[in-house]
Amino acid sequence: MIESKAYGEVLQIRMSRFPDFPSGMWVCAYLVDGLLVDSGPAYTAQELTDFLKDKGVKKVVNTHYHEDHISANKFLQDACGVEIFAHPLAVEKINGPASLYPYQEEVWGYPVPSLVKPLGDFIETKKYRFEVIPTPGHDLDHVCLFERSQGWLFTGDLYVTTRPMSSRSIFDMPQILVDLKKVRALNPRIMFPAPTYVVMEPAEKLEKTIDYLEGVGARVEELHSRGMDTEQVRQEIFGVEGIIAEMTQQQFSSLNIVKSFLKKNER
Ligand SMILES: [Zn+2]
Repeated sequence: MIESKAYGEVLQIRMSRFPDFPSGMWVCAYLVDGLLVDSGPAYTAQELTDFLKDKGVKKVVNTHYHEDHISANKFLQDACGVEIFAHPLAVEKINGPASLYPYQEEVWGYPVPSLVKPLGDFIETKKYRFEVIPTPGHDLDHVCLFERSQGWLFTGDLYVTTRPMSSRSIFDMPQILVDLKKVRALNPRIMFPAPTYVVMEPAEKLEKTIDYLEGVGARVEELHSRGMDTEQVRQEIFGVEGIIAEMTQQQFSSLNIVKSFLKKNER
């Protein structure tokens, strides 16, 4: 299922295979001035392509190679001849076959390989210029896009909530903190995240997230320095592991947050 909502010139397109599920099962793409930011999961790829057929989409940027952001690429290439761009580290992954965990296959589905070109420092549309902001904490190829004259910030998966309680093992939490500070410094007027709702004047939410993660990081270090192991630290900070850990075969967990903050000491 897809649904859309306009925020001025930016059209948000929300996509889900399980629209009745309480949360976490939606992902958004954004269309502005012929540029599509992300192309969503495989299960909505045809529906998205049908929806976009008469909307003048010329270019697509994938914020990163994860399967819920790239899977209509090939459909859009075939139907509308779009040019697609992603971070150089993402190109080979998107142009080749994907490998997914069972939960990813169930919720998002397998992407068909597509032809993606490497992104430069910015991408232009008829009216706008979007700066490419590398934000490698979520994954090494992750980027945000910033349109300075409008204050539009497209954050992919960088921002989910002000209090993240779980992460994948690939997430680098100290780097995510650096990334959040980097986009906060841009002073965006509107933030367009992929996994959640549009945020107007996002400074406060970004600050809250930064404060929360800095607090978690400091507590992890403190408890660990007192001799607690990772599981004891996790229990002390987060309590019972959330349902998402079970649903994702432990791919998402609060233990990963603790481990990521402790990895910093090993570098
Ligand atoms: Zn992602």
